[in-house]
Amino acid sequence: VIEHGQPEHSVVTTCAYCGVGCSFKAEMKGNQVIRMMPYKGGEANQGHSCVKGRFAFGYATHKDRITTPMIRESIDQSWQPVSWEEALQFAADKLSSIQQTYGRGSVGAITSSRCTNEETFLVQKLVRAVFGNNNVDTCARVCHSPTGYGLKMTLGESAGTQTFSSVKYADVVMVIGANPTDGHPVFGSQLKKRLREGAKLIVVDPRQIDLVKSPHIQAAHHLKLRPGTNVAFINAIAHVVITENLHNPAYIAERCDTEAFNQWQTFISDERHSPENTQDITGIPAEELRQAARLYATANNGAIYYGLGVTEHSQGSTMVMGIANLAMLTGNVGREGVGVNPLRGQNNVQGSCDMGSFPHELPGYQHVSDNVVRQLFEQAWGVNLDNEPGLRIPNMFDASINGEFKALYCQGEDIAQSDPNTHHVEAALKGLECLIVQDIFLNETAKFAHVFLPGASFLEKNGTFTNAERRISRVRKVMPPLAGKEDWEVTVALAKALGYEMPYNHPSEIMDEIASLTPTFTGVNYDKLEKLGSIQWPCNESAPFGTPIMHTDAFVRGKGWFAITEYVATEERANRKFPLLLTTGRILSQYNVGAQTRRTDNVAWHQEDLLEIHPHDAEDRGINEGDWVGIKSRAGETVLRAKITERVQPGVVYTTFHHPASGANVVTTDNSDWATNCPEYKVTAVQVSKVAKP
Ligand code: SF4
Repeated sequence: VIEHGQPEHSVVTTCAYCGVGCSFKAEMKGNQVIRMMPYKGGEANQGHSCVKGRFAFGYATHKDRITTPMIRESIDQSWQPVSWEEALQFAADKLSSIQQTYGRGSVGAITSSRCTNEETFLVQKLVRAVFGNNNVDTCARVCHSPTGYGLKMTLGESAGTQTFSSVKYADVVMVIGANPTDGHPVFGSQLKKRLREGAKLIVVDPRQIDLVKSPHIQAAHHLKLRPGTNVAFINAIAHVVITENLHNPAYIAERCDTEAFNQWQTFISDERHSPENTQDITGIPAEELRQAARLYATANNGAIYYGLGVTEHSQGSTMVMGIANLAMLTGNVGREGVGVNPLRGQNNVQGSCDMGSFPHELPGYQHVSDNVVRQLFEQAWGVNLDNEPGLRIPNMFDASINGEFKALYCQGEDIAQSDPNTHHVEAALKGLECLIVQDIFLNETAKFAHVFLPGASFLEKNGTFTNAERRISRVRKVMPPLAGKEDWEVTVALAKALGYEMPYNHPSEIMDEIASLTPTFTGVNYDKLEKLGSIQWPCNESAPFGTPIMHTDAFVRGKGWFAITEYVATEERANRKFPLLLTTGRILSQYNVGAQTRRTDNVAWHQEDLLEIHPHDAEDRGINEGDWVGIKSRAGETVLRAKITERVQPGVVYTTFHHPASGANVVTTDNSDWATNCPEYKVTAVQVSKVAKP
């Protein structure tokens, strides 16, 4: 930990890691951060922090930082350091020539949830106004895109319903496919406090997370469902609620679409959804599921928190809608202590979605085919906009392999490591004639790049992040950008090299433009953020100070919509060749692919990525603790060391994905959610066997 005496000044900013969005005071000596102190005035964390935000900031000045733009004609050549002007002109010339040769739709961009709202807004503007297509997608594609789809369809807004602090009013909390004490630690602490005060906990997870049993906390139920059977589970819970008359008819009659509810009631009442008829699918004993359903449905305030164990499935969107169905069915949306609460992985997942980096939506989830909306943007940007949705990330990969997609601008995202089926991703990247990577490190994706534009860390830029509770908080520059430009300035310069002016002097002006074009942001500006500290959107004429709890009097879509959520088994099933199901997660001290946390003092807490395997499965294969094991799926194979533990149930193995060498995504497949193409990271059928040390 860097401790260098007394600070000379401090700057309040927002954590660069998870979707809790904690506020910190960066204590400075000159241009050096000497400490990150949790900021008591931060609404999301109220003076608390975890080991990532508190200690893992050293990556910003790590020796691996690249601070000079670089170019090369082909990926088998060495990098050539050049000036900003030369690199940007090289990139612009490549993009223009590719579009002339292959057409307007042959280029696109990927935005990152690690970047600010303003940066993300500019990248999608570059794609739409300058590239002239809608080929822009966000890394949220691979994590919470089903949340956006499912909550918009059922409740009317692609966002969580509550503030984090609302959990203090919950009597029963259901945590589905999330591990808050490791993934969202400051919220995990708030949740534990409420549980110690007596709230009841239902954990739905194939693996025993710490919350199931920890000092002074014992979950009322740990429902160990089989990976890939979420929808069968949520339908069984709803079946119990409706057939045992535990639902809230008055709430449903007042708040929900009657015709949709009646159809859904007929669907869910069918005996095929009963716990007894689904227990062979889910692996959850029928009586325990009934008890858990009764506990949630009879709570005064029942809250659901969920994570990637819900979304990263072939039925991710269906499951999100199933969760929303259950919350509406029991009247648990629209007040403190209840709600549907996605725990977003990265700091700005919510923001990157809000800012229009989906190929079918302009900022504020406004569809590109809406003529009125498009005209507003066309007037503001002085261009004609495409009314056809563009390519999603997996479509870009497929189109590259087919020779139709030729250039990609990738800002702050390491797709070669983070996206599933690595061999497929690498083949797609090799097919590009121009890959522009903008990042702080020479990441795995940069191995396939022709232009490298050095990025700025969160300490080197101004802007805003939006956390999982829709809270917009300021990111403030505490030191000059090491490479001389903030990321938004790079996008502006690239647009200029392509002949399009984006005349901003400061990110506050970008936020003003966002506010002028996005109905849920019309009341947001930097002056107000200075005064209030943070703002939860929607913030507009009807909610000038923001909206902590959504859907209070009515759902955003009007009447809540009960979606029919038919369970369809994933194609990724265990069989004789691949008899175990692999699922993945993360540890407290690491963050995602570890590009940042591996380059900080937090390495003291780190462990290698291990394969957790149940003692019975280990014994069957002659595997002992610490042995090297080969993991093979139909997509690829990798090698890890074994950790034998009853945390995982027989038939299930588990690993983390924080180190490139572990190759977890070499084995994950390109199965994906039917509605959003979010990859099915959480279910991979594998064979596991003991191997010699690699
Ligand atoms: Fe807060 Fe998350 Fe940062 Fe930890 S990693 S300090 S919980 S925002």
